[in-house]
Amino acid sequence: MAFKIFQRGGSAPADSRPAAPAAPGAGCLLCGEPQGGAGAGPASCALCGRSGPVAERCRSGHAVCAACLGGPAREVVERTCAASVERDPVAIAERLTRHAVLRLLPEDHDLLVPAALAAAWSNVRGEGGLRAVRVREAAGRMPPPGRPRHDGEGAASGAGAFVSLVAGWSGRADPALAEQAAARASALIGRGDDALCPSRNALVAILATARLAREKLGTEMPAHGVACERAGKNPTCIGSACPFNRT
Ligand SMILES: [Zn+2]
Ligand SMILES: [Zn+2]
Repeated sequence: MAFKIFQRGGSAPADSRPAAPAAPGAGCLLCGEPQGGAGAGPASCALCGRSGPVAERCRSGHAVCAACLGGPAREVVERTCAASVERDPVAIAERLTRHAVLRLLPEDHDLLVPAALAAAWSNVRGEGGLRAVRVREAAGRMPPPGRPRHDGEGAASGAGAFVSLVAGWSGRADPALAEQAAARASALIGRGDDALCPSRNALVAILATARLAREKLGTEMPAHGVACERAGKNPTCIGSACPFNRT
């Protein structure tokens, strides 16, 4: 099966779907700490940098404005990944899957694959100054919301999209490597008649791509993440067969 590696330039069309309210206990988008930090006054938003009223502040002091928290899923994903300083792409993506904004459609989860990988790649290589532009470029390779696709296909395509970009960033352009990345991610995700958990699909695709980046591109991204907090709650959860189920 050939995988379509999305090649559109620029950002995808704006997603007009409103974000769902943040779930209680979802934690800070940037560090995962509980909300409820001291100080309700104006501050600089950790996601967009604008100064103004704070909608949420975590115990580590990260403040996020209402525009960022209430924006469309695609914008929240892009802004959060662009502001994330972690080296573990699974950790970045997993934190976003906890947020209510991503509990809508599978393509929101698919977008996490290239965006979180682009952020972690930049951080691991000490190129944080390029992180935001790379995240936007990587996310722009994904199709706009609403395009029908099969389970796991979007996440696998996200892996291919990231590798096609990163091969160019590192001066090792190799079109075949992008196809290989998508195929590896798809194989690890698995396919079948049953619906698969979109969070798992995205995290598995990221794991597969981090491994490929180490083997083929010489860049080691730690990809451990944390245990899934929704184990058994999602109707498509496959329990202990999922690498993120650590109960
Ligand atoms: Zn925080
Ligand atoms: Zn903001």
